[in-house]
Amino acid sequence: MNLSVFDFHCDTALALLGEDRNQAGSLKKNKYHIDLERASVLDGYAQCFACFTTPLEAEIPPVVLFERELASIQREIAKNSSRMALAYTPDQIRENREKGKFSAILTLEGTAGIGYDPALLEDLWNIGFRITSLGWNEQNPLTGSHLTGGGLTDRGREFVREAQRLGMLVDVSHISDEGFWDMIDIAQGPVIATHSNSRQVWNHSRNLTDDMFRAIVRTGGVAGCNVCGEFLGEAPTVDTLCDHIFHYLELDPTGKHIALGGDLDGVEHLPQGFTGVESWTAVARRLQERGLDEQTSMDIFWNNAIGVMELAVYNHAK
Ligand SMILES: [Zn+2]
Repeated sequence: MNLSVFDFHCDTALALLGEDRNQAGSLKKNKYHIDLERASVLDGYAQCFACFTTPLEAEIPPVVLFERELASIQREIAKNSSRMALAYTPDQIRENREKGKFSAILTLEGTAGIGYDPALLEDLWNIGFRITSLGWNEQNPLTGSHLTGGGLTDRGREFVREAQRLGMLVDVSHISDEGFWDMIDIAQGPVIATHSNSRQVWNHSRNLTDDMFRAIVRTGGVAGCNVCGEFLGEAPTVDTLCDHIFHYLELDPTGKHIALGGDLDGVEHLPQGFTGVESWTAVARRLQERGLDEQTSMDIFWNNAIGVMELAVYNHAK
């Protein structure tokens, strides 16, 4: 199967640091969910690598954790430069695929590691960060989370404006419902949920209601489907993930606003039939067996992600 995969979210940068968060794991081959050897079954591959930071991870100050993740993922990409390259633009992602190279995109999950400071976003943009959330599961100076409730603060609104000014995509995956709607109110460009499934299919606060998904569609954004067992359903299988995708397709028959955000290396329970990056082929095959046409499949697995990155940059250029 010739399959290209663009995945909006993984925690591999964190996983590579190991249990003590201070090791130097290998992106080429490892025991986690994503490595380049297993990804070689894919025809094209673009992976967003999140630098994860939160004050809830108490053992290490968030700034230190952020720096370690960033340093380790930058080093691993550089070490594997014949196979993978950091991509700054949608064009570079396309060119990399044509050259048989994988793309890495830097993203921010949680903002504790940059002191919740919108003024630092431009520096992050310059070194390749293309997506930012406002927080993880905590209440922070920018917003409440899906666990705490509470909407955007003034500083949170400033953060969103600055990200969108730069052309950086804003990510609502861990945000509270109030924060989500505050974000939609002020958004000047596409809003994305990098790794969130459908709450209609499985009732979990990390998943999107139908109204939320429709609001994302109206901004031109996308929702990335997640393989975390807790967000999929009871005793989930690859088919359960397909159920979430097919539900989103009922709300968006164009299929232009659905993407992937696997959450690999950030989850403990994978659905039956899914073992890691190599398993995206099993998902594509099952979607095909269940009647998904090839064009829509290519859109979900690759084109829509590139399209929304282009839209963010286009907004930036305006
Ligand atoms: Zn997450």
